[in-house]
Amino acid sequence: MALIVQKYGGTSVGNPERIKNVAKRVAKFHAQGHQVVVVVSAMSGETNKLIALAKEVQANPDPRELDQICSTGEQVTIGLLSMALMDIGVPARSYTGGQVKVLTDSTFTKARILSIDEANMRRDLEAGKVVVVAGFQGVDADGNITTLGRGGSDTSGVALAAALKADECQIYTDVDGVYTTDPRVVPEAKKLDTITFEEMLEMASLGSKVLQIRSVEFAGKYKVKLRVLSSFQDEGEGTLITVEEDKNMEQPIISGIAFNRDEAKLTMLGVPDTPGIAYQILGAIADANIDVDMIIQNVGHDGTTDFSFTVNRGDFAKAQGILETVKAKLGGREITGDNKICKVSAVGVGMRSHPGVASKMFKALADEGINIQMISTSEIKISVVLDEKYLELAVRVLHRTFGLDQ
Ligand code: ASP
Ligand code: MG
Repeated sequence: MALIVQKYGGTSVGNPERIKNVAKRVAKFHAQGHQVVVVVSAMSGETNKLIALAKEVQANPDPRELDQICSTGEQVTIGLLSMALMDIGVPARSYTGGQVKVLTDSTFTKARILSIDEANMRRDLEAGKVVVVAGFQGVDADGNITTLGRGGSDTSGVALAAALKADECQIYTDVDGVYTTDPRVVPEAKKLDTITFEEMLEMASLGSKVLQIRSVEFAGKYKVKLRVLSSFQDEGEGTLITVEEDKNMEQPIISGIAFNRDEAKLTMLGVPDTPGIAYQILGAIADANIDVDMIIQNVGHDGTTDFSFTVNRGDFAKAQGILETVKAKLGGREITGDNKICKVSAVGVGMRSHPGVASKMFKALADEGINIQMISTSEIKISVVLDEKYLELAVRVLHRTFGLDQ
């Protein structure tokens, strides 16, 4: 008998029929004698609808009120799932984040979980009930409803699993696991049986949107056994996200090819090569709440240097505007930018112990005539910035080059 936390995303609870199917799956585990806590998202599209509704009334919605509104999506699905469970003879009880209680800080719309009170859940589990908890939401010390950021139900699931010291946290979604790359780009992409947290973090942050990044960080930190599975298939073990790489197995050098389309790059040419330049440029960008990804500063010559960085495509225009102001102050020569770029990355813990991964990657791209605009590396990842039009080709070529097609 195990304690299992299962999280079902929006598409898995997208209509009454699907909610009944989820209930059947939960019932199966319950019948096997397991204690089950279920975390659900709002029905698919519901959170978007609520946000749009809010914006019709207030163009820039007040964050506290927005959370008040957005949290209702999950309140509907916990009630429906509990009823569906009761309807097939499984005792169940639903809880909002506040009722659990999932205590968070007061950063509305992207709150962080501080603690979780397990007492109510334990009591119900011991009484043989299935506990159904609203994902995505919590409550702050003053009793205000908070939400954890888009896709936050994943984090709710993992956090509950950590708090309850669950044997496993199962994330049910519309794919049957984590793939070597997006199968829509490379049909030969393979499902991975296991992937390490580190790799998963890189994959997630690089745009493989299977799990919310924070949930992976959380699982790594609290050593939660995390599994991604399909809610539409009865068979299959999904992908297990492991804390440690399997030392007994021959690690593949590269586990996956991740990519991100929504990138843009900006360059400030001819800025004075003096202390504080990076700070003045990026400080202004950070003050505007724009996330910066890759940063490159050239070797200076003639007392000036060039400074490039990438941002989310959606922040491109805003970042450009800020750079103009900074340029006026610092006396840079010119600002250039390109919002038709993409980022492609090879990810794998195996590259720690295998030299030559980067050169293999660069050769494969060169052989296809693909120009690399920027490069960045970490211990387990090599990323390149490319013209957007090469994205599919680059991903396919790298997937093949690193033997992921087989
Ligand atoms: N319903 C929320 C959202 O759409 C949370 C989630 O689905 O994980 O972002
Ligand atoms: Mg989701």
